Amino acid sequence: MTASVLTVDDLRERAGSAALFLDYDGVLAPIVDDPSAARPGPGALAALSELTSRFGLVAIVSGRPLSFLSQHLPDNLVVSGLYGLERLTADEHWQHPQAGVWRETIHDIAGRAETRGPAGMTVEHKGASLTLHYRAAPAIGAEVARCAAELAASSGLVMRDAKMSVELHPPIEVDKGSTLLEMVEDHNPVAMVGDDLGDVAAFRALDELAAAGRDVLRIVVRNDETPAELVDRADLLLNDPAEVVELLVSLAE
Ligand SMILES: [Mg+2]
Repeated sequence: MTASVLTVDDLRERAGSAALFLDYDGVLAPIVDDPSAARPGPGALAALSELTSRFGLVAIVSGRPLSFLSQHLPDNLVVSGLYGLERLTADEHWQHPQAGVWRETIHDIAGRAETRGPAGMTVEHKGASLTLHYRAAPAIGAEVARCAAELAASSGLVMRDAKMSVELHPPIEVDKGSTLLEMVEDHNPVAMVGDDLGDVAAFRALDELAAAGRDVLRIVVRNDETPAELVDRADLLLNDPAEVVELLVSLAE
């Protein structure tokens, strides 16, 4: 079987058997200084809802918690939160079996980060993980990284770099790549829209699927923080979330 790079037209024509994965921040929702204020841009939700009736699978894969994502996305979507630690489908709210025992540690560490972190750092307590943000104060990036390293060393949590932030995660081997591979089932073709470091793992998963004979489409939304590794892999480059909406609308035509 020979895998090939798809076009958007191919994806539209084969939608019934296809899986479409999308990141949330920077893809559906424009990046804003206050992470809690990030909302899907105009037309995004209507287009997504329309696609759920045409595609085999439409799924959001995000580092955000489900408690946030489910408030801002249509009910009929499959949503993976916290880089795969939790998932919401039509009939299930699933949590990784090893995630629960870390919630107390996360709670303690979030409290310590609040009191010990540098001025300008904001702590996002996400239940089964936490994020230390410095988007509002880029100059403190190194200090935040140091603070995160100390908190990680004392708790057993692991650090992951993210966009203008550092994530502290339970030491559980999940990422957007392993999550995509778990969710994709037999769907073919498979497309993913991503923009940041956390999406690199998902694009590697697409490489794996392509090597195994599936047709894939790697769509990258390029912004100031998009890593070169993602841009280099792109089959299609978009400039902002508004162009993602245009793509979604065109897939629904
Ligand atoms: Mg993103």
